[in-house]
Amino acid sequence: MSSYNVRSPRADEFINHEEIFDTLAYAEAHKNDAALARSILEKARANLTPAHDHGTTLTHREASVLLACEDPEVNAEIRQLARDIKQAYYGNRIVLFAPLYLSNYCVNGCLYCPYHAKNRDIPRRKLTQEEIRAEVVALQDMGHKRLAIEAGEDPIHNPLSYILESLETIYGTKHKNGAIRRVNANIAATTEDAYRQLKAAEIGTYILFQETYHRARYEELHPSGPKADYAWHTEAHDRAMAAGIDDVGLGVLFGLEGYAYEFAGLLMHAEHLEAVFGVGPHTISVPRVKPASDIDPDAFDNGIPDEMFEKIIALIRIAVPYTGMIISTRESQAVRAAALQLGVSQISGGSRTSVGGYGEETRPHDTEQFDVSDTRTLDEVIGWLMDEGHLPSFCTACYRAGRTGDRFMEFCKSGQIQDFCQPNALLTLGEYLCDYASPAVAEKGWKMIDTELARVPDDRRRALAADYLARVRTGERDFRF
Ligand code: SAM
Repeated sequence: MSSYNVRSPRADEFINHEEIFDTLAYAEAHKNDAALARSILEKARANLTPAHDHGTTLTHREASVLLACEDPEVNAEIRQLARDIKQAYYGNRIVLFAPLYLSNYCVNGCLYCPYHAKNRDIPRRKLTQEEIRAEVVALQDMGHKRLAIEAGEDPIHNPLSYILESLETIYGTKHKNGAIRRVNANIAATTEDAYRQLKAAEIGTYILFQETYHRARYEELHPSGPKADYAWHTEAHDRAMAAGIDDVGLGVLFGLEGYAYEFAGLLMHAEHLEAVFGVGPHTISVPRVKPASDIDPDAFDNGIPDEMFEKIIALIRIAVPYTGMIISTRESQAVRAAALQLGVSQISGGSRTSVGGYGEETRPHDTEQFDVSDTRTLDEVIGWLMDEGHLPSFCTACYRAGRTGDRFMEFCKSGQIQDFCQPNALLTLGEYLCDYASPAVAEKGWKMIDTELARVPDDRRRALAADYLARVRTGERDFRF
């Protein structure tokens, strides 16, 4: 386990407002400079070959030039390069997870979020440990192995002790075919000591969305509560890493501020983590603001059209090739299909964004955090992924084998992760097909496994994977490379 004894600079130093404005002006001035855009793309092509110390990752300034570029041919090249880099680092694998909402009590005043303290239109609910067990059983019955816990911020209703107890309950809920193997946490910024305790409770990735990198806009949108402190929030990943959580996730809530500003800020944040800790963000999420209870969507006039949203995803993939990229059921099937081609590597499936939603027969809406656009079941999502040429994976092996933080990055950047991920994806898909899939999805899945198994390059690993898969079919579980 590594921990980082590095003193981080303050938020305003690494998310430098002046530098972002300067970058946006530079990008705008060069938006028709196809030669410059092509030279930047040429540099990014070096990322096609994963390398431990490639040093070719694009800077926020270079990526911003590409974002502003209006040349249709260059834009088509950007999309193609993103697809190719995705293939080089991740192959056709897509990892599945589900959010688990623990509590919607919240003391913050975030103007875009229905959990804000003054919203009297939603019933407040917090799951008991017994209810958490029931939710976890329902999620396991769908086939999930990886969860992301979500909670509002409330020191009385959801103190750290509640989160820690909930983690223990989730990991401890063994049911039929095993257990949840990785729990990521999307909870409010907290102290280094609290991060240390979360690490000891074995959280996977610590995910915290910045919402907006624009300090003035941030302060306007967060008028009250602990989250109102921009520096406290923005420096949270540094504290988490200093506490030994070496997989952290970034994200912007697109729509709150101009996308070009957010894009540059997000990349600066990734550059900062890489520079200080030698490890960039383990994941980057790309949520967009959705209509929700007590929230007027027209209050946010920075919505991005789908085409620009896809370009942002493609450019994150090009600029930060090693990072996992996550898209949720906030987005429709059509948007998710394009996003998967261009760089997204993890999606949620069969999600319910309400507290206690998985135990209910029909989708409850009263405590929902936001409208879900993709309402298909997990089995439908798995079948669809395969139809689109993706290999669904429930793999959690890296974390369990201690391949996190700099060790994961070393693996990933040198392309070695492929040798592990591909067979692990096949093994976990095999488990899903045996235990949870509908007959049609199972038939499709086993055909895919046969085809993909033949593509595992290393003879010994291929033979071992074939042996493990045969044993999965006879009921053994949890093999991994
Ligand atoms: N309480 C934690 C925090 O403050 O970071 C995280 C939990 S919150 C349930 C998870 C995320 O939901 C937020 O970070 C925000 O980006 C997102 N969210 C809030 N309101 C939303 C909306 N109307 N549409 C889409 N996403 C929203």
